[in-house]
Amino acid sequence: MRDQFNREIEYARISVTDRCNLRCRYCMPANGVSKLPHGEILSFEEILRVAEILARLGIHKIRLTGGEPLLRKNLPILVRELKSLRGIEIVTLTTNGVLLEKFASDLIAFGIDEINVSLDTLDAREFEKITRRGIFAEVHRGIQFLFDAGFRNVKLNCVPLRGVNEDNLVALAALAKDQNLKVRFIELMPFGCTSRSGFVGMTSAEIISKLENHFGKLIPCDGSKILQGPAKYFSIKNFVGQIGFIDALEHKFCGSCNRIRLTAEGFLKACLCYDTGVDVKKLLRSGASDEELLTVIRETIYRKPLEHSFERSSAARDARQMYQVGG
Ligand code: SAM
Ligand code: SF4
Repeated sequence: MRDQFNREIEYARISVTDRCNLRCRYCMPANGVSKLPHGEILSFEEILRVAEILARLGIHKIRLTGGEPLLRKNLPILVRELKSLRGIEIVTLTTNGVLLEKFASDLIAFGIDEINVSLDTLDAREFEKITRRGIFAEVHRGIQFLFDAGFRNVKLNCVPLRGVNEDNLVALAALAKDQNLKVRFIELMPFGCTSRSGFVGMTSAEIISKLENHFGKLIPCDGSKILQGPAKYFSIKNFVGQIGFIDALEHKFCGSCNRIRLTAEGFLKACLCYDTGVDVKKLLRSGASDEELLTVIRETIYRKPLEHSFERSSAARDARQMYQVGG
């Protein structure tokens, strides 16, 4: 469906849990993480009911996220059920990769279309510095498992952090040399506890300059197929894969935003930045009919805000943390 600004909304990010097995400093506090009681998290049945309604409104792509989505029991079953819904064409996953080795076979068997692995560095010590957990080897094995299984729809997402993983960006990009994968650099967003982490992001211009010093010219890709979503992709001579950049602050892409978000506790957000939206769980659990749900969800999507205001520190913000929304 189209929103009030005539944007085609066709993509929903659904968070299935607020729990995580890492503690990335820009995403989660070290201590005092409040966890939703199990009963407050949407059940698979509830997620599927909402997804069915979203599909009726023209959403055809769903990304499962969290927290760490692979901590949710039986996640591959949810993938299979979502894939079987009429109108849902693409089901993807964003994961930190820690449990990938365990679940990748089932995810692939049950039809996952794409797996994005968040990985900020290939250096185990740096990994621990960023995530507060020393389990880089698990992530590495998970990614290797995907390659060995011949699963090709993989993206690696890295948040460049000045003076932290800065010197590892070339090594990360180099993974796209021999593998047909997309390595993407995502601008650090001022969301939740990010400001308290002490981390500072980097601009895509800085990263491009670093990569060009090492690999030579980055050539923009303008094929319509790869220009899906907000990422800008580049190829490099002798590289099989591509390098992408997503910079929501530096290059605002709100004019072409096509997404909505459903939190693990069932709150439908039309824009990452604000706390406005609708408490879908409350409706689901108070006996709302499909038609009532559809009407409220359609209204929420229609009223999607024009743009985020992350660049203005004084502007109204959602008080949720990134792990509570799903990125
Ligand atoms: N745990 C999963 C993972 O890490 O892929 C899924 C949830 S995580 C919130 C989704 C993405 O959000 C990750 O790629 C993470 O790097 C990103 N993220 C978290 N906080 C961020 C921030 N302040 N700015 C930019 N990206 C952020
Ligand atoms: Fe967990 Fe993902 Fe947040 Fe890291 S970015 S703490 S892996 S939810």
